[in-house]
Amino acid sequence: MTQLVWFRTDLRSRDNPALWHACKHIEEGVVGVVFVTRQQWLQHGLGERKIQLMENTMLALKTELESLNIPLLILTANTFADCNQILQRIIIQLNIRSVAFNIEYEVNERRRDIEFGRWCREQEISLYKFHDQCVVPPGEVRTKQDLPFKVFTPFKRAWMQQAESVIAAPLPRPEQRDQKIQSALTDLIKAQSGLLLSAPPIKAVADPLWPATEDEAHLRLNRFAEERGCAYKQLRDFPAEDATSRLSVYLSLGLISVRQCLHVALDHNNGRFTGGSPGFDSWISELIWREFYRHLLVAFPQLCKHKAFKPDTEQVPWRNSEADFKAWCEGRTGYPVVDAAQKQLIAEGWMHNRLRMISAMFLTKHLLIDWRKGEVFFNQWLLDADLASNNGGWQWSASTGADGVPYFRIFNPTTQSQRFDASGDFIARYIPELINLPGASRHQPDNLQRQRCGYPPPLVEHKFARQRALDAFKQTLTTANAGDEHE
Ligand code: FAD
Repeated sequence: MTQLVWFRTDLRSRDNPALWHACKHIEEGVVGVVFVTRQQWLQHGLGERKIQLMENTMLALKTELESLNIPLLILTANTFADCNQILQRIIIQLNIRSVAFNIEYEVNERRRDIEFGRWCREQEISLYKFHDQCVVPPGEVRTKQDLPFKVFTPFKRAWMQQAESVIAAPLPRPEQRDQKIQSALTDLIKAQSGLLLSAPPIKAVADPLWPATEDEAHLRLNRFAEERGCAYKQLRDFPAEDATSRLSVYLSLGLISVRQCLHVALDHNNGRFTGGSPGFDSWISELIWREFYRHLLVAFPQLCKHKAFKPDTEQVPWRNSEADFKAWCEGRTGYPVVDAAQKQLIAEGWMHNRLRMISAMFLTKHLLIDWRKGEVFFNQWLLDADLASNNGGWQWSASTGADGVPYFRIFNPTTQSQRFDASGDFIARYIPELINLPGASRHQPDNLQRQRCGYPPPLVEHKFARQRALDAFKQTLTTANAGDEHE
């Protein structure tokens, strides 16, 4: 009997529960399938660079699986609904009786899988589903009242207790399959449909910043752990430093799993989630934020539907000035740290976490523009674009989310810049017009300096913008949510 593995955002051979399960039966053939769903991805707002990176990753997986004698069928479909139809046809053609996949949690993806599950039941095809994206499956970390957590710190505490007992050692790469069995399977596929094994419908276009292979992901993980992990807590907020792992892109493609990351961290942290080295404690905590946002997405599906976590914040009178939004997108706000952040995003497909917070808060508070517009823009440009973390980050910054920043804590971009890029080196890297200014002047050049450098005036004055945001939030929030004003 042939085992079919349906790959999605788990494009790796190591620590892949679905692949591992399918390879358990050594006497049976294994075939992998993955879909290029361009139209669906564009509908989900992904950018061309991310789509290309996903395609590069699929081709790398094909090579990797071929070395195990497992064919990977890279198929094209417009939408998720089309995937189901195509897959059903292949399953019938190849007489497959067993399918395995790792679960995706977003609403459209879950809908697709429910439909597929229904069909499998009707056809009496065994379906094996695995939780892979989180260490503790969503829905399983709950308060004493049996409710999902809405606040990070108690979630983290409960998560750590549970994770200790459930975190298994990452699964190894499966062994190479028997050539004879696999060749027979390949012949069958060819005979059934020559098209299936013709050249993949996509081409790799290397992205020099983000080589899309599993080996690269592990190289980066190990290098980070050995060279930078201990100093992570001290340096993680300084964008000019190369202090964070930059693994988010690899995690979002599934080139590496969160278990693999955590195990390397635990190896460097006396086997503990907390109470070891401050650097690794802090890095592990960030991985738990990632889990937290995934758990929220499943517990509160309205988050997949562009709704604010806090319903009363739907009444905030966003300004939605197209001109201001465009200036923010293009890095022309006149606030150097915000502009440098936006330029990093466009150049690298990645933005430092401190800058994501500064830039997102600037858009939502200083410009009073709806967080959803920023979320869409980030989603389009970030190569680590991920619904749960992106939505979580935006709703945190906009004070509309679960455990978001209180609405009255509004970052002053200039003081943030002075604190986290004191030398102005990061700013100069992305706004070369300002390179000839002394470092200290790069945070807030005066009018003359701006004119000389050809750098725009600020879109809005900080004090005025801060008050405007406070007023906008105050008039819409219920007293229960309003809190005290600090800062
Ligand atoms: P490291 O500092 O090395 O952290 C290790 C890993 O922990 C990351 O790779 C990531 O998986 C996870 N992590 C770290 N910080 C966070 C966080 N605040 N929330 C959730 N997970 C975290 N992250 C994404 O992966 N995809 C997104 O689309 C995304 N959008 C964001 C939007 C906004 C407005 C904000 C404020 C944050 C967003 N983040 C997102 C979270 C965070 O900025 C990135 O995960 C981080 O910058 C990635 O860099 P790194 O891999 O070097 O992280």
